[in-house]
Amino acid sequence: MPFYDLKCSCGEVFNIMASMSDRENKRIKCPKCGSNELEAVFTNVNIIQSKEPAGAECPNFHKCGGMCCH
Ligand SMILES: [Zn+2]
Repeated sequence: MPFYDLKCSCGEVFNIMASMSDRENKRIKCPKCGSNELEAVFTNVNIIQSKEPAGAECPNFHKCGGMCCH
């Protein structure tokens, strides 16, 4: 099951392991106030993962044609 960093409408931010259906059906509740009005917080892990495809491209592509990366 994936981990979610969630932010409650009350301002509480918490990390919880839940299935995708738990999240879609709003079965996850804030541990502080019990609300299910939660939004996902994008963590550093998510940011690194989203940058991975771009990182495969060689920064010196204009010099090496990408050969140095393979
Ligand atoms: Zn709350």
